[in-house]
Amino acid sequence: MVAADILEVAPSSALCGGTVVVALDPPEVVVADVVLAGDRVASVGRAPAGVRRRDCIGTLIVPGNVCAHHHLYSALSRGMPYRLAPPVTFTEILQRVWWRLDRALDEQAVRASALRGGLDALRAGTTTIVDHHASPNAIDGSLDVIAETLAELGVRSVLCYEVSDRDGPERAAAGVAENLRFLAAADGLTRGMMGAHASFTLSDATLEQVVDGARSSGAGVHIHVAEDAADQADAHARSGHGAVERLDRAGVLTDRALLAHGVHLAPAEMHAVADTGATVVCNPRSNMNNSVGHSPFNHLGRGAGAGVALGTDGIGGDLFAESQVGWFRAREADIATPSDWPLARLADGARFAGRVHGEPLLGTISAGAPADLVVLDYPTPTPVTADNLVGHWVFGLSSGQVRDVVVAGDLVVEDRRSTRVDEARVAAEGSTEAERLWARMDAIAPHDFEPMRGRP
Ligand SMILES: [Zn+2]
Repeated sequence: MVAADILEVAPSSALCGGTVVVALDPPEVVVADVVLAGDRVASVGRAPAGVRRRDCIGTLIVPGNVCAHHHLYSALSRGMPYRLAPPVTFTEILQRVWWRLDRALDEQAVRASALRGGLDALRAGTTTIVDHHASPNAIDGSLDVIAETLAELGVRSVLCYEVSDRDGPERAAAGVAENLRFLAAADGLTRGMMGAHASFTLSDATLEQVVDGARSSGAGVHIHVAEDAADQADAHARSGHGAVERLDRAGVLTDRALLAHGVHLAPAEMHAVADTGATVVCNPRSNMNNSVGHSPFNHLGRGAGAGVALGTDGIGGDLFAESQVGWFRAREADIATPSDWPLARLADGARFAGRVHGEPLLGTISAGAPADLVVLDYPTPTPVTADNLVGHWVFGLSSGQVRDVVVAGDLVVEDRRSTRVDEARVAAEGSTEAERLWARMDAIAPHDFEPMRGRP
């Protein structure tokens, strides 16, 4: 509410007259002008004379959403043909779908996927994408391709390559090298992490390389944990321990780690995760779609003792939809789910991304925060206050209301169109590239990698 004297850049523009969600957790709502200076929010109050004004009366202005677990490489899979026997287990879904798609990706397809997925996310009001990438036949430089594409669109990102032994030791080593190379070079709107697929596709030796790389670069590890019971069974067979203990003994679990899913965890394993300070990412739509079960972190939220963020696991980039479905799934599991659930989950994602970017105010619209925000056309049928914001979020908001998107002070979506790319061109190129990708994928057999089967 106070002008930020610390800003060196003079205020240049203002979003005027909207209902502004200053913070999600705890919620704070005011009717005010949001004044921008450079890449920052200068103030939330009254716009000074002489700045460029954009009328936002009748809108709701919210902090940009963070997708804390995405797979942009899957963006061209929507509607792709499938001619094999239908998969009936999680492992078969990987063998017959995703581990065929990722091997069909070349550099051109990686770029087209990032462009399509990044644009979809931005248009849905997601301003930061935390991505987990795989393209086993185009590893070297793949993170640069994604970073350049997202920078062209104007999306903030945290990128990594998912290291795995499923395609052989050379590709595992190439994945580690790609992460290290990118971590050393990432700047601007992008940062790196050390990516790893999941315990069940990682040997002890490769896990050691992943952890060494993370330590030497000061990065956290972004990895799938206990998405399916197969991950736990494999960890027992490999190590005599569950996946959490195996990863913890290897040094993966730190306060910088990002653990996707956490579905098949016993209470003691959940406590062990919380004790490390790692952030968990729930992906409720993906878990339901794959029929792998419900993550207890989802309905417990911070009651589990850990930061719990939300991701799409590659099912688009719409965190309004993900937070709404996640809320309903949490309520189904436990009617006592805290009512701040959707807002707290999104705030946890922003806190994580903010730590990686060195931006502690990311996820707020407050003086000095990075100017990452979304203007929704939301002529509200009832008053919006801090106390009832969550009700509007769950029952009223939609990505279809996204009018403008600002990232680092730049208006990258204006009146529902990207200001950076020709959307018709992106659609046409995406369709052409998708058909090429699907044709290559058709020629690739199901993957023969199998998890080890131990004590479930
Ligand atoms: Zn995933």
